[in-house]
Amino acid sequence: MAPPKVIKPETPAAKAGPRAKVVRKAKSEPKPKAKTKAKPKTRLKAAAAPARRAGVMTGAPIPRLGWPPDEDRVEEIFQRLAAIMPEPKTELTFQNPYTLVVAVALSAQATDVSVNKATDKLFKVADTPEAMLALGEAGLIPYIASIGLYRGKAKNVIALSRIVLEQHGGVVPLNRTDLQALPGVGRKTASVVLNELGIEPAIAVDTHVFRVSHRLGLANAATTDKVEDQLHAVVPADWLPKAHHWLILHGRYTCTARKPNCAGCVISDLCPSRMALAV
Ligand code: SF4
Repeated sequence: MAPPKVIKPETPAAKAGPRAKVVRKAKSEPKPKAKTKAKPKTRLKAAAAPARRAGVMTGAPIPRLGWPPDEDRVEEIFQRLAAIMPEPKTELTFQNPYTLVVAVALSAQATDVSVNKATDKLFKVADTPEAMLALGEAGLIPYIASIGLYRGKAKNVIALSRIVLEQHGGVVPLNRTDLQALPGVGRKTASVVLNELGIEPAIAVDTHVFRVSHRLGLANAATTDKVEDQLHAVVPADWLPKAHHWLILHGRYTCTARKPNCAGCVISDLCPSRMALAV
């Protein structure tokens, strides 16, 4: 097999045009005062201003990258991720569209492992809206009490089950509008469900996707919705259905928040952040 094509990642200094504006903007921004730490409301917002924060892993600054990225580099990134993860899937356990919606709703600000531990027992007694309503909020809470924000999630699961039963004949509506109308189901949850079931290629942006996209220069926007839009604009159509999984799994197991394994990363030569993250 021919060796993988090595494509030089673009750097802020290497690209003219819009990138030059980005560099000038960075220079004109006031320098943060020494020993004054920004207090971002969320970790995602902190990651959205990489040029002004200390490197999250090694103290090195994360480069401010231009956008859009080079098309050949993006293609090569996904080719390599596809080669090592040919059939990526969600790590949440589910049996049907209803349990998928419940599992994804429960996974907000919680790990898939913790959700699977809870739903392993829950779905044995309630894997339909009818059964969940029969269980009731008080009956549901003991199953999910180990998951963060469980009280609010219990309310939402019962409320969404009632709507699915009363307004959709007990069948989860598999379109974005109706899904997002369900309590506890936002854009990210709907994207995960529609993508996982092969209904709509969507890239739900969680903390892993947000971080990895910024490090790879696939996106540079400050909000998850804008990052999702940028990813849809630059990820080739052929890779779109699985891109969400590849970015999540790469972020979860290789490009981790505090200690990315750049030495063992199959796309390190395509990554503009690897130098900044080197010790
Ligand atoms: S080289 Fe490092 S920072 Fe870049 S994608 Fe790989 S693990 Fe992440």
